[in-house]
Amino acid sequence: MKVLVVNCGSSSVKYTLFEMDSEKKIAWGIVECIGLPEAYYKRQTSGSDEQKDSVKVTNHMEAAELIIKNLMAPETGSIKNIDEISVIGHRIVHGGDKFSKSVLVTEEVKDGLKECFSIAPLHTPGHYEGILAVEKMLSGIPSVLVFDTAFHQTIPDYAYMYALPYDLYEKDHIRKYGFHGTSHNYVSQRAAAMLGKPIEQTKIITCHLGNGSSLAAVEYGKVIDTSMGFTPLQGVVMGSRCGDIDPAVIPYLINMNKDYADPEALNVLMNKKSGLLGISGLSGDMRTIVKAVAAGNKKAKLAFEMLCYSVKKYISAYFGILNGADALVFTAGIGENSPSVREQICKNLSAVGIEMDVDKNNEPSSSERFVSTESSKVKIMIIPTNEELMIARESKRVLTNG
Ligand code: ADP
Repeated sequence: MKVLVVNCGSSSVKYTLFEMDSEKKIAWGIVECIGLPEAYYKRQTSGSDEQKDSVKVTNHMEAAELIIKNLMAPETGSIKNIDEISVIGHRIVHGGDKFSKSVLVTEEVKDGLKECFSIAPLHTPGHYEGILAVEKMLSGIPSVLVFDTAFHQTIPDYAYMYALPYDLYEKDHIRKYGFHGTSHNYVSQRAAAMLGKPIEQTKIITCHLGNGSSLAAVEYGKVIDTSMGFTPLQGVVMGSRCGDIDPAVIPYLINMNKDYADPEALNVLMNKKSGLLGISGLSGDMRTIVKAVAAGNKKAKLAFEMLCYSVKKYISAYFGILNGADALVFTAGIGENSPSVREQICKNLSAVGIEMDVDKNNEPSSSERFVSTESSKVKIMIIPTNEELMIARESKRVLTNG
């Protein structure tokens, strides 16, 4: 069985084709900068080198057409006929309170997704365009929507509610939703396997640290809290997002500076100009920050320490609400690749049973591994995330079981 996983942004279409018997990737790629002169198509198949070409694509439909033609190219393609694809799995960032689990796409589901435009205006319209485009190109093949918010649906009400007037929840659906659910789900399952226990007997803290970062407290396989909120802005310090701040800063800024009367200006300030970038004035990219710290840059050092401190605070809080944990997992770009961030986060956490083996932590590897000491009560793990595979598995499950 082959599953095509699609991740459509406002100006990009990313895809991975899986052979599900082996769960191996057969072909993958991305069309980026749709509608812009610098648009390109980057692609690869298993056993071949990456190819990258400039392309002219004005919309998602043209991008989907380009991808399907490439997948079916007579000599180099990965499939001969579109019927070889059993199901298409779409990654959807925000399901709001309309979608609490993966669904097979119907006209009603598409209408429901349209209702989520206002809650995630940066993501959902692009997803919707992508669904229509792929549907047109691969007509007759079922599609499944897999939501980043779904894994967090088990969070209890006292944890997902904000202490605002109740009608803001009832009328405007303002509550914590949480994101990166597919990644937290995947790595918590892998962590349980590495512990050699059924997930129903584990308590795991997962740290997805990338450009956007979030943590989840996963108790017996179910999320009981996560750091992101109504949007992916809440929580720890991120590449260019501020994470948690005193909400009273917002009305203060609006009163002090007329530029901030425009909500979009505030969105840009907190989502694009803050975090590592805002503090260091250098970059939101952790690699640049780590180099600048080594070169003695004080603001980079402050940004680095703020990010690590904010993660450490959430770990400590989650240790408390879980009443202990079996494992602490690091994943995503920073979590998988930055020994110095992991070390700084885990420093002085022995009171809660977290003890890092610094040598193991510094060993270069891209595999799943333990980096805690033998005596550490909490096992520290690095687990490369695999959101695409999780979406492929979930799409197969929905297709098979309904
Ligand atoms: P996204 O949230 O966009 O999916 P990623 O998970 O790819 O992001 O993570 C991107 C982040 O990972 C960037 O801050 C990048 O600097 C960081 N990163 C990648 N490799 C390393 C590395 N070797 N050392 C430190 N940071 C790294």
